[in-house]
Amino acid sequence: ILAGGLTACSVVNSGSNAKPADAPKGDNKKIVVGFSMDTLKEERWQKDKELFEKKVKELGGEVKTLAANSDSATQLSQAEQLISEGVNVLVVVPYNAEAAAQIVKKAHDAGIKVLSYDRLIKNADVDLYVSFDNVRVGEMQAKAIVEKAPKGNYVYIGGADTDNNAILFRQGAMNVLKPLEQKGDIKIVYDQYSKDWKPEEALKNMENALTANKNNIQAVVAANDGTAGGVVQALKEQNLAGKVPVSGQDAELAALQRILEGTQTMTIYKPISKEATLAAELAMKMGKGEPVNEANQKVNNGKTDVPSVLLDPIVVTKDNIVDTVIKDGYQRLEEVYKYV
Ligand code: BGC
Repeated sequence: ILAGGLTACSVVNSGSNAKPADAPKGDNKKIVVGFSMDTLKEERWQKDKELFEKKVKELGGEVKTLAANSDSATQLSQAEQLISEGVNVLVVVPYNAEAAAQIVKKAHDAGIKVLSYDRLIKNADVDLYVSFDNVRVGEMQAKAIVEKAPKGNYVYIGGADTDNNAILFRQGAMNVLKPLEQKGDIKIVYDQYSKDWKPEEALKNMENALTANKNNIQAVVAANDGTAGGVVQALKEQNLAGKVPVSGQDAELAALQRILEGTQTMTIYKPISKEATLAAELAMKMGKGEPVNEANQKVNNGKTDVPSVLLDPIVVTKDNIVDTVIKDGYQRLEEVYKYV
């Protein structure tokens, strides 16, 4: 365990604290991957952690995972710790897209490559980015809600504005909503990010939206399942849950149950196993100093065009839960249908 009272500090899966320097040289050298996560709060990140560690281990490597509890300074010091422990490569889910540029700099100063995982680090020489097409996620969310509510007053409840993904999700949603607003079909009456992706922030935002519009709201595009949970609670307080369509993302258990109960319209399933497995494979290559040829596109992060792999998100409604998340083993049938 690292010093500094790091609460969500989850440690390493394979007992050894051998530094790469102590490890055998040549082909048998054990690659150590540093995994610096923002948080393990949302259900998905626990799956990311588990799947990522499992794959690296399978490939003969070792992972040191630390989670920063939504704090930039903590994430930087944890990354520094991993660097000083001699990891061969650093995989980072940044809490703060801009602040994490420091991490890239420190890693590069130590000759360590950085893979930006799921969330893009801005304004830094990031070596590789593995994620989903996040603008498309936002477009899919908004489209699904427009199908249910082609006219009326719209609310957008975003994620953390410190997370580049939250910006992309909103951008995608607006790609769909703005033209409809210009046509006069819909009106965006409220549009706010929710600090640190907190459901309670989303709840407050939604309460404000309802109050400001005297409950005259026909649709809500919420950026993920956590924020959707806050939104649905605010709607419940006004007896509107189930009457106003609400989007989500992550295929969390609670969200799938809300979808079955009718209080949430859809979620986005991002096959985390693909993302985690691919990132693990590519991180291992980077750690060994091997070239990575899998990146098939570039994403500009304000400083450079980052070689990237972006996977496809999937829309989930009550009609395809079984064929998607259950079939993939992402959630268990008996859990999802427990209360139905
Ligand atoms: C991820 C989402 C997640 C959110 C909150 C985003 O960067 O892409 O899947 O719900 O962070 O943790």
